[in-house]
Amino acid sequence: MKSRALLSCLAIVLAACKPSKDALAEKAAESVAVTSPAKSGKPQVLVANYPLQYFAQRIAGDAVDVRFLAPKDEDPAFWQPDEAAISAFQGADLILMIGATYSKWADKVTLPESKVIDTASAFANNFIEVRDATTHSHGPGGEHSHNGTAFTTWIDFKQAILQVRAVSEALVKLVPAAKDAVEKNADSLKDELDALDERMSAVSRRLVNQPLVASHPVYHYLARRYGMNLQSVLWEPDTVLDDKHLADLNGILAGHRARWMIWEGEPTKENVEKLAALGLQSVVFDPCGNVPESGDFMTVMQANVSALEKAFP
Ligand SMILES: [Zn+2]
Repeated sequence: MKSRALLSCLAIVLAACKPSKDALAEKAAESVAVTSPAKSGKPQVLVANYPLQYFAQRIAGDAVDVRFLAPKDEDPAFWQPDEAAISAFQGADLILMIGATYSKWADKVTLPESKVIDTASAFANNFIEVRDATTHSHGPGGEHSHNGTAFTTWIDFKQAILQVRAVSEALVKLVPAAKDAVEKNADSLKDELDALDERMSAVSRRLVNQPLVASHPVYHYLARRYGMNLQSVLWEPDTVLDDKHLADLNGILAGHRARWMIWEGEPTKENVEKLAALGLQSVVFDPCGNVPESGDFMTVMQANVSALEKAFP
């Protein structure tokens, strides 16, 4: 209740600032085409993916507008923003990036450097480099490969906590009047991530010497942090498994006797059955890079951890 009251005070303060800000925006609009101007007058925070949207919204509450522009059916890691979206990023008050080569598009456009926060910079010296990954496609983004820096950083929950810290420090600078609420909210988020990390660490002790297969190569940091012996195929949850897919899997299983496959989303019944015939059970760990169909980042992560706890009791 207290933080909510503080935030509504802040909203009033910000509203009071509005005329001068609008005047500035109007001046800017005279010289350059400004797209989608801030309607609320609140600072505009643009984010690279859904986990950062969730972090920023939970931490800043109503003090800022958080905008995540990638469409729901695309992987934000391979998303190519259109001109309007790029303009929105360029006009933002704060740009939260995952880092770790997550937003490929950002290399090709000029962003206001002073506004950009690379939330993974605290552990950049510990990134995982992926080699020899095959090109493939999923969703409308076209062909891609997972070669280069692994970028699903936040499913190592200790790394997620460092990213939350970077988000919270940037938000304190952006809205200093909300400092107390921002830090309090960030602390509660960190506590929840810490709890997930502890549960995963307990699961990891039961995973020792347990070979696992993943449906897609997005779990590098999860596997490293929690000691998973994981190899990947290049499937989607709704891939219709043909002989080629199963041959790829059998190639892995020949030297890696996995009993479980980890999926990014709920696999089709047919796929579950085909794997069961090979002696593989299915479990979902959704990295949640985009907005989930139900719940939010935290409930999805809790469900992920619960599913692994259940699979490895
Ligand atoms: Zn892929």
